[in-house]
Amino acid sequence: MTSQSRNAAIAARDLAVVWHPCTQMKDHERLPMIPISRGSGVWLYDFDGHRYLDGISSWWVNLFGHANPRINSAVREQLDRLEHVMLAGFTHEPVLELSECLARLLPAGLTRCFYADSGSAAVEVAVKMSFHYWQNRGRPRKRRFITLSNSYHGETLGALAVGDVELYKKVYQPLLMNVITVPSPDCHLREPGTDWESHSRRMFLAMEQALAEHADEVAAVIVEPLVQCAGSMRMYHPVYLSLLREACDRHGVLLIADEIAVGFGRSGTMFACEQAGIRPDFICLSKGLTGGYLPLSVVVTTEEVYQAFYDDYLRLNAFLHSHSYTGNPLACAAALATLAIFAEDDVIARNRGLAGRMTQVTAELANHPHVAEVRQTGMILAIETVKNKTSDERYDWRERRGLRAYEYALSQGALLRPIGNVIYLMPPYVIEPDQIDWLAGVARGAVDAACA
Ligand code: PLP
Repeated sequence: MTSQSRNAAIAARDLAVVWHPCTQMKDHERLPMIPISRGSGVWLYDFDGHRYLDGISSWWVNLFGHANPRINSAVREQLDRLEHVMLAGFTHEPVLELSECLARLLPAGLTRCFYADSGSAAVEVAVKMSFHYWQNRGRPRKRRFITLSNSYHGETLGALAVGDVELYKKVYQPLLMNVITVPSPDCHLREPGTDWESHSRRMFLAMEQALAEHADEVAAVIVEPLVQCAGSMRMYHPVYLSLLREACDRHGVLLIADEIAVGFGRSGTMFACEQAGIRPDFICLSKGLTGGYLPLSVVVTTEEVYQAFYDDYLRLNAFLHSHSYTGNPLACAAALATLAIFAEDDVIARNRGLAGRMTQVTAELANHPHVAEVRQTGMILAIETVKNKTSDERYDWRERRGLRAYEYALSQGALLRPIGNVIYLMPPYVIEPDQIDWLAGVARGAVDAACA
């Protein structure tokens, strides 16, 4: 059997039994499924010798490359000691070391770690915990949530309810709780001549108003700090978060920072909240937490929240949420190895150089007749394509232009997976400057392919 036919054979077997995420499976009548045999650094290899540069870090999870030797060896070592034990009534070194490490790294005051196994599950935890906090504190009316338009927090029902991406949410609306949605500070929508900070400040007025009006019935505000990633990589200024922290305190509302996508250096700092100098009441982390290795998430909160649940059992104030694989030791070992790389390699400083290179080599794209904006926050760079730059007319979503960009990039040996009409780069941090240059060239071609 040739390797070419192995690719095809695996794809055929796959399509007979696997139902893939975020996919209209019928698309694969035309679109080839790509079986990956192995990964190394920024590269993914299929079975017939093609390789693809992982320009989006496999859905934003991978930080230090595929099959990273340091993370591999940590997971391997842990595997010989303990693969899993339930976390209720039992503990293990990886989970406690990871909790100590996170408490050291996070803004002061975030000290209590509650584990789950995916980003969505972490959001469920934060939503339930913030609601339950007010119940335990004798404020049962505080049961609603404020969220931003165009936000995304995952796809389980609670997470979907506090998100606002219509494509994922609309059909399930009858199943979802009713939330208060405030216009996003998205700086792509700013008036010409307005800077990010002024726009973000102006957009905060709607949040202030919602808090003033609804504080009595609101448990928490949930936001994606600085970048609404699944919402087409729309970005805003840190001042919005500073204003939000102050207003939540003033109105007695908790603040949930969903850093599932932007945490661990993506935004240019270890955590995006650092750029606003704030400490949320809950921070949700996942994705990069394990370097992209294993499913793990955590909600880190304050002693104040923890104490609201700490009580005699018979008062039934405990937080009884659980997942079977909560705090899995292998995943925690991967997370510890990931955090060790941050500590040993001065990753944030190196990323600054890489982010600068990304800015530099994509700058000319702003002049492209179909590019409305090239925007960037740290290691996230997004290219907003439009049908008509002067009138800002958008492409009809039914034209699926992003799919053309995806296919073009694959043909060149790069994995880019545009969101609608937005082509973005979010590479692993082990990417080399010359690979960034090459990827920018592919992105340029992808824009041309999408807009032809
Ligand atoms: N929150 C944010 C900001 C995300 O970007 C995502 C995933 O993309 C999630 C939550 C959901 O995470 P998961 O896909 O692990 O459930």
